[in-house]
Amino acid sequence: MRYRIYPLLTGHFTVAFNGKSDIKFPRVKDIPSYIFLIVDENGEAVVVDTGFDLNHIPAPDSSGEREPHQEIPFLIKQQGIDPLNVKKIIQTHLHWDHAAGIKHFPNAEIYLQSGEIEGLFHLREYEETSFCPGHWLDRLDDFKLLEGNQEILPGIEVIRTGGHTHGHQAVKVRGENQNILLLGDSPFTYEWLWTIVPEVYWNEYRSLPLIDKWYKKRKSANPQLLKDYTMIELQGIGDVQIFSHDPGLKGREYL
Ligand SMILES: [Zn+2]
Ligand SMILES: [Zn+2]
Repeated sequence: MRYRIYPLLTGHFTVAFNGKSDIKFPRVKDIPSYIFLIVDENGEAVVVDTGFDLNHIPAPDSSGEREPHQEIPFLIKQQGIDPLNVKKIIQTHLHWDHAAGIKHFPNAEIYLQSGEIEGLFHLREYEETSFCPGHWLDRLDDFKLLEGNQEILPGIEVIRTGGHTHGHQAVKVRGENQNILLLGDSPFTYEWLWTIVPEVYWNEYRSLPLIDKWYKKRKSANPQLLKDYTMIELQGIGDVQIFSHDPGLKGREYL
């Protein structure tokens, strides 16, 4: 089975991490937020991540923007899929900007790493507002907890990357022309994701070996940044790696 993968832009958000003098993160502005619709040759669909809720952007002075044509059900229907017929969601992780749209898919099973749930019990203080259990608490019965790498369907496999969150996973998809790795927010840790999101770093981000070197240097300086996969390792897993907040996806109809 081969799949076509649609990156769907669900809006932008700006997060201001302010309030304390020992500020860890810069203000991150107009971050594009993508979810991914994977459709097989028979029209069956799998959704990877479910986007953010315009009414739930954590942190003061934060905001989101969503055009009417960026509403999640609209985007899915536009590709000929009824959200009610989506049977499988894969969550790369449960951050507020990735898991708020689960409600649009009431008939779906939700695949995530069991480590993602474990991690919720050991959050660092500044991470606590990054999760909004209200987005998914009523769907716990639909959670399918995975232990590490696993095939979800022929040609769709999850790779546990850790790092960004305890149970973060990427999704490898056998695309029409090449293997595509949907990275979610990996390989960055929570801290480094937000640090490098400002646009000036995007070209560096796309230069994978450079980032890997950069990452290793910091990792050895700070063992807290340990994660399961390096960028080079992730690069070896698919032909193309796609990040959930990459402005470069703009205008791409499918991958
Ligand atoms: Zn995240
Ligand atoms: Zn994110």
